[in-house]
Amino acid sequence: MKVVVIIPAAGLGTRMASAVGAKSKKPAASKQFTELAGTPILIHTLRTFAASPDVAEICVALRTNEIDGFRARLEKEAKDVLKKQVRLVEGGEHRQQSVAHALATISAAADDIVLVHDAVRPFVTAEIIRDVIEAARKHGSAIAGVPALDTIKEVQRTAEGAVITATIPRERVVMAQTPQGFRYDVLKKAFDEAEADGFMGTDEASLVERSGHDVAVVMGSVRNIKITTPADLELAEFLLSR
Ligand code: C5P
Repeated sequence: MKVVVIIPAAGLGTRMASAVGAKSKKPAASKQFTELAGTPILIHTLRTFAASPDVAEICVALRTNEIDGFRARLEKEAKDVLKKQVRLVEGGEHRQQSVAHALATISAAADDIVLVHDAVRPFVTAEIIRDVIEAARKHGSAIAGVPALDTIKEVQRTAEGAVITATIPRERVVMAQTPQGFRYDVLKKAFDEAEADGFMGTDEASLVERSGHDVAVVMGSVRNIKITTPADLELAEFLLSR
């Protein structure tokens, strides 16, 4: 039962760029290539998966024009990552398409495990990776998540802003993170069904849920942040300095 990791890393990072671009004329790097302590966020992320003894293969979905440059950078700066089999494939217009492209290139048995992890979550730990793999093996599907600390409101958007329509009991809410892990046959079926129905989700679990499979949640970490905005980058620099 091997474990294959898919890292979607083909985002444009517009939420980061719109804030940075206001100050600078230089086009901002995609957020996964933004450097933390001189190393691209994506390489930090890859290092943690490459160091996991459970992982057999890593497939990274990138923007087409970034594939050659990134391969050269890995060969120059991150030989440790290349100790694992690392394949670089073309991403798509949306995250789901990037993952679908990578999934289509994988050859796996039904009970092999596929982990999907955001390129921009470099603080994932070996323990979270191990827990998600173990739960995915046991239940067929599992994600990392953390309890919601804020009170969660459902709203209706209006021209003036938003109006609350409901308060969701906090104990019934978790904030989904990655890694998200699935048996290959479960994930493949969910992606095939989503494509046939034209469904677009913001994570893999949402596709698997609608496919009728229960998805277990294991404890993630509040440090396993998704670096999306300049404020996240400041927090990431702080976390890395510790
Ligand atoms: O856009 P979002 O915050 O959901 O991005 C999460 C991850 O998905 C990032 O690692 C990003 O690079 C990736 N992504 C992708 N292809 C896209 C859009 C996002 O691989 N078209």
